[in-house]
Amino acid sequence: MNRKPIIAGNWKMHFVVSEAEIFVKELIAALDGGPDNVDAVVAPPFTALFSIGKLLRGSTIGLAAQNAHWETTGAYTGEVSAKMARDVGCKYVIIGHSERRQYFGETDETANKRLHAVFADGLTPILCVGEILEERKAGRTWTVIETQLRQGLAGVSRDDAESLVIAYEPVWAIGTGETATPDQAQEVHAQIRGLMKDLFDETLAQGLRIQYGGSVKPENVRTLMDQPDIDGALVGGASLKVDSFIKLIKY
Ligand code: PEP
Repeated sequence: MNRKPIIAGNWKMHFVVSEAEIFVKELIAALDGGPDNVDAVVAPPFTALFSIGKLLRGSTIGLAAQNAHWETTGAYTGEVSAKMARDVGCKYVIIGHSERRQYFGETDETANKRLHAVFADGLTPILCVGEILEERKAGRTWTVIETQLRQGLAGVSRDDAESLVIAYEPVWAIGTGETATPDQAQEVHAQIRGLMKDLFDETLAQGLRIQYGGSVKPENVRTLMDQPDIDGALVGGASLKVDSFIKLIKY
């Protein structure tokens, strides 16, 4: 199955609007609109989505929100809905990132609610799963990932799941400079694909894109992408410099 790679830069809480605009203008110029053999995506902070959405119009570079609330509108101070993300040009929404789980009380249940809302608004969720170091050391990696996926995907229809992207991000590798070895990542990616076959079917599982995330950089992206079940990368630190992000996209 030919799966189009998807390389996404998660900017987290970096860049004011003017910095984000400079970045994206340089990116568009360097990529001449955008690559067509890779889905390149940027996930700016909410404050920059509107202006970056305008800059990306007509380009093949996709726009992602870093989160979205499960309600469309209402009294939810500090939240942004999937509808609002779509309104400013987002195609993707990152859901259940480990930093959301670690610092902001996100659970598999809230990730699931957000995921449903993202699908309902016609956007593509990037559902993040990953184990912490203690869980890996205790040999519980797959149990943890399986639970996150089963609960995160509860009630999701096959039709919706077709557009889903999953990001496997071992928490111990995020922002630490420590990357899972290509073999470690491949093992989990293959297990995820196997679970998706059980939850849905073989065709869906084979078409599903699974990104790896955790200290991906230009120097290691190629060996990770060479793995048969790694279909892209979700990148934090190394996506914050244009040159580095371009190298990742052109791995
Ligand atoms: C991330 O936050 O999704 C991530 C993978 O970060 P980093 O690339 O900095 O490890």
